[in-house]
Amino acid sequence: MERKYDVVIIGAGVIGYSIAFRLKRLQPGLTVAVLGDPANSLMASRAAAGMLAPYGECERADRFFEFCRESLEKYPQFIRELESMGGGSVYFSQAGSLIPSAHFEGRWNDQIRFFDSQKIPYEIWEPAQVREKAPALSESCGKVLWVPEAQVNNRQMHSALKKASMAMGVSVWNESVTGFRLRENHIAAALTDAGEVEGDRYVLSAGSWSAQLGKILNISLPIKPIKGQMCRVAVEDDQLKYTVHGMLTYVAPWREGLGYVIGSTMEDRGFDPRIEAETIQALIDKAAEIVPCLKSAPLLETWTGFRPAPEDLAPIMGKSGRYDNLFYSTGHYRNGILQTPNQADYLAGLILQSGTREISEFSPSRYQL
Ligand SMILES: Cc1cc2nc3c(=O)[nH]c(=O)nc-3n(C[C@H](O)[C@H](O)[C@H](O)COP(=O)(O)OP(=O)(O)OC[C@H]3O[C@@H](n4cnc5c(N)ncnc54)[C@H](O)[C@@H]3O)c2cc1C
Repeated sequence: MERKYDVVIIGAGVIGYSIAFRLKRLQPGLTVAVLGDPANSLMASRAAAGMLAPYGECERADRFFEFCRESLEKYPQFIRELESMGGGSVYFSQAGSLIPSAHFEGRWNDQIRFFDSQKIPYEIWEPAQVREKAPALSESCGKVLWVPEAQVNNRQMHSALKKASMAMGVSVWNESVTGFRLRENHIAAALTDAGEVEGDRYVLSAGSWSAQLGKILNISLPIKPIKGQMCRVAVEDDQLKYTVHGMLTYVAPWREGLGYVIGSTMEDRGFDPRIEAETIQALIDKAAEIVPCLKSAPLLETWTGFRPAPEDLAPIMGKSGRYDNLFYSTGHYRNGILQTPNQADYLAGLILQSGTREISEFSPSRYQL
């Protein structure tokens, strides 16, 4: 069987599928394939907590911050579009995030100045307001900062991206790429365990595994996996509608009877898939200091995932300088769910040469890729 496409995307996480989705929305006649490793159940896209949180942890308005902020602004429309294109329903909440003031220690005034300078709306809730609006929070939180961040169920979003992309005619091959057929600086075909897939253009979006594929292309992609252990506990939907983060913990409400996700560790231990009971307990204990009802909540699930972390922690997105038909979108590290809509627009713009200007801070050229 001959398999030939205008665009071949390697990586079946939110990044790969969202590029396929956007390309087909912009040019329905384009032929697009997504190749994803079926054995890889550790992908970040299904492991994430789905927090869309550019504000709480940011103190500088650099290009990365702007990109994430733009992406958050695109989210409501992105979710509506996904649902309307047959993706199924995706839980998305704009209730916002709460951050206990103690999280900021001596940085409180700087943080408020930063919000003011960037015109980021916020509210400061005094303890009495916290008791009224978010009674699940511990009294020890003191005053709390509210910011207009958002929350998505990333597993539903990943499934929706796949479903909507397929409904629009994207071919999905559950195959692992093991090599490439090259003609000098041109990729002629991706080789999988089931045969060849030819493309005019290729996108490398294989998350933490991008470096392994880069190696086959003789490219040294400076990306490593940062492991995160997580869990989900059963808590009634009405206990808390806000995402809570700061103080070395976070609680992400998935609601809809699915409970709350508690995260997460940041471990530089390679592709180690182990889940450790004592680590999970420590996550629950830490989160329960802020939301006490989590302490006795039934444990529903535990898991591990790998964040794709580039050396300078900024995503690697753009055209390759080494291969004339290769693009990268990888290294989205801790905020890849947040970056998904803006990243998809950006990559589709570059691939279709529709006037999108390359963002130098994210350019593969900074690593001579
Ligand atoms: C524990 C945890 C919590 C997180 N929480 C958040 C959060 O709250 N908010 C947020 O914005 N971000 C969060 N992130 C980050 C976010 O999940 C990632 O940045 C994002 O999912 C990266 O998506 P991706 O598609 O690039 O990679 P992945 O989802 O890892 O997908 C990589 C894909 O490449 C495929 N692949 C690998 N090798 C091959 C091969 N040889 N051939 C073919 N396919 C291959 C895999 O099968 C997979 O489909 C979190 C991540 C983790 C791990």
